[in-house]
Amino acid sequence: MTDKAKDALPITVRNVTKTYGKVFALNDVCLDIKSGEFLTLLGPSGSGKTTLLMVLAGFTRPDSGSLMFGDREVIRTAPHLRDVGMVFQNYALFPHMTVAGNVGYPLRLRKIGKSEMDERINRALETVQLGGYGDRKIDQLSGGQKQRVALARSIVFEPRILLMDEPLSALDKKLRDRMQIELRHLHEKLGMTTVYVTHDQREALTMSDRIAVVNFGRIMQLANPRQLYDQPANRFVADFIGDSTFLPVTRNGSGVTFDGAALKTTNPVPDAASLLLMLRPERVRLLSGATGDNMNTFAATVSELVYQGDSYLMYAQLPDGSEISLRGAVRDGTVSGLPKVGDPVTLGLDPADTVVIDGTDS
Ligand code: ADP
Ligand code: MG
Repeated sequence: MTDKAKDALPITVRNVTKTYGKVFALNDVCLDIKSGEFLTLLGPSGSGKTTLLMVLAGFTRPDSGSLMFGDREVIRTAPHLRDVGMVFQNYALFPHMTVAGNVGYPLRLRKIGKSEMDERINRALETVQLGGYGDRKIDQLSGGQKQRVALARSIVFEPRILLMDEPLSALDKKLRDRMQIELRHLHEKLGMTTVYVTHDQREALTMSDRIAVVNFGRIMQLANPRQLYDQPANRFVADFIGDSTFLPVTRNGSGVTFDGAALKTTNPVPDAASLLLMLRPERVRLLSGATGDNMNTFAATVSELVYQGDSYLMYAQLPDGSEISLRGAVRDGTVSGLPKVGDPVTLGLDPADTVVIDGTDS
């Protein structure tokens, strides 16, 4: 299972629509997935992530559209002829079979001989760090081990495309954090084109080369984690990824105006009828005394101050009544040096952190 990257395939989704009655599970989806990349479909429950994965796997036939693996049209190809490995949310293991029985299942379907089968099963189990577990029963395994068995079964026939639907959602947080990194390493080792589904934004940011944010059966934005966090295309994406507060602004030359005051930005201002300034709590600064002259500033009053262990979260009210939040480091384990509720404060925003997004309801 080495040098898979050269065998990996790009995936091209063109105008794929799938309806259930009046519901558009997928609404004219176009998506280009690069050969060997780790792409995540991220979106809330019911947004169409599983439906898109099932279309890729061949278990769901869309109403219309085209699907290419490399230069091969596969929209009418049966699942077992697509060369796709799949990990389901609930593992879908056979409880009465051993670990080796489960992992070997796709090989038996493909009529692989006994000795090659044993060798491949062992190799897949080694890859997911379950070497020597072949004879165990499924019900003797922990959640994390079951997940690895499902993963071994999905890679044992060396597919060129790997699809995973919320594979870590049943695990507790510590194990999930570790498995995220392990899956990422496994992808680097095997290099197959991977499409991963999650509703967890932090998981998506941790694992992905690129993320497609999905809502109402549409791709809202396709970008790498950094771009998605720093330059969200609209309010839905900004809200779904990270925390933020928003202020209504109007265009003013190359910058914008908020409540009569001009704000400088080094970022492009979108060409939209309605504009919002997006403020990430960790980018807003609490200014004391002298202010950098290049900083955008806001006079405000502290309305809440919350101690959160590794950091504090402050809410501050602006003269027009809107509220913004800022996060800062806790020093000496307390918030004692900070302003109190009711105190006036000056908040600063660097022009580089002054990000204006399309505020039109989309
Ligand atoms: P996600 O995986 O993002 O939670 P799904 O792809 O499962 O979303 O579902 C998208 C939409 O399609 C939802 O509104 C869901 O109720 C609907 N849907 C999905 N599968 C079916 C089905 N087999 N029959 C009817 N409606 C479905
Ligand atoms: Mg789903």
